[in-house]
Amino acid sequence: MTEPTAPDFHALGLSDDLLDGLDHMNIRKPTPIQAQAIPAVLDGKDLIACAQTGTGKTAAFLLPLIDVIISYRPKEDGSIRGLIVVPTRELALQIDQQLQAIAYFTPITSIPLYGGSDGSTFDSQKQALTSGVEVVIATPGKLLSHLNLGYVPLKGLEMLVLDEADRMMDMGFVDDIRRIINFLPKERQSLMFSATMPPAIRELTKQILKEPVEITIALSKPAEGVDQQAYVVFDMQKANALEHILKHSEATSIVIFAGRKVEVRNLARHLQKRGFNASAMHSDLEQSERESVMLTFRNRKLRILVATDVVSRGIDIDDIDLVINYDVPHDPEDYVHRVGRTARAARKGTAITFVNEKQMREFGRIEALIGYPVKKMPLPEGTSGPAYDPQARSKDKGRNGGHRRSGGRPRPSGARKSGPRN
Ligand code: AMP
Repeated sequence: MTEPTAPDFHALGLSDDLLDGLDHMNIRKPTPIQAQAIPAVLDGKDLIACAQTGTGKTAAFLLPLIDVIISYRPKEDGSIRGLIVVPTRELALQIDQQLQAIAYFTPITSIPLYGGSDGSTFDSQKQALTSGVEVVIATPGKLLSHLNLGYVPLKGLEMLVLDEADRMMDMGFVDDIRRIINFLPKERQSLMFSATMPPAIRELTKQILKEPVEITIALSKPAEGVDQQAYVVFDMQKANALEHILKHSEATSIVIFAGRKVEVRNLARHLQKRGFNASAMHSDLEQSERESVMLTFRNRKLRILVATDVVSRGIDIDDIDLVINYDVPHDPEDYVHRVGRTARAARKGTAITFVNEKQMREFGRIEALIGYPVKKMPLPEGTSGPAYDPQARSKDKGRNGGHRRSGGRPRPSGARKSGPRN
């Protein structure tokens, strides 16, 4: 979480009902993105903001969006007035929850709209969309299904927000987004939030935004309160090392990330068998199962959540004190998002990454992105199998006349007990 900056919310020109809502949430000072975005949006400007989760970006668009709806133009009959498009249903739900909290003292109505629902849910969504709801927070596919049927009232739309635009691109939603835009009135304000700004996003902004104000909040770097550590291990050592860490950690709220669903499932099952209070979270679960897992985790009745990247972006769970990357995330940005689950709102946390011999180079890309090397830790005592010695690669190189491909399997360094060195 980026530290709040000097001016308070009163100075930003927000209405009293919103200030009361913030007060109620114990949110006192705007973060940098809020301090910059809120006046620009209240001024009617389009906005492109490069900011990652944890910077307070959600409130940076929700506050002026709600303010505009309650303070300015009269409500066009039954029309949706704010549309927020997001990559995942979890993010839709989370934004809706934050909206409900911030807008507690206002009469704003909202619904989250996401896929995977059955026919009756679709009908109730249709009913909500056509009965005067003011803010819709939607995933692209589900929104388009409703838009294509022609009954979604958008004539009075005042503001479009695209949140986590880069994620939506990665997930292949770009055409859906273009189609959605075609349904919207041309006269509107548009805001785009993205953790990264690759050329494809720049291109999209040209099509969607008009002379946008541009805000960039720091580079993608984990919050300073995160103690980042890496264990360089062979795959066969991971399970033991993990158990050791879990047994000896005092952390009460832990997320373990793994790249593949099958791994998440197996790992959760393995940990349960070993007596740990753990559950799996991935996109194959029914919506109701996901919600119940997340609820038990939020309520701290579940100590360990084993998850794919479904929960790494945008999901707001307070007080996670330990994040473990069971593997190195393929996309360096995902590392920042995963690690960003801990040390939120300026708290402290620990993030541990298991790096196997094939992932050294990928991990190097992550270190290049964050701009510093991550501390390499010795393997816990009692972790079975030989410790991996990153130095062995250069030794091997010498022996093999330099023909070993970097990233190739190095020779285990024998019976050394402690793990890799810094
Ligand atoms: P976000 O970057 O939108 O995911 O927000 C991260 C977390 O910061 C959420 O738990 C917000 O409730 C919290 N938050 C947002 N704005 C502020 C603020 N100005 N001061 C303290 N916490 C905040």
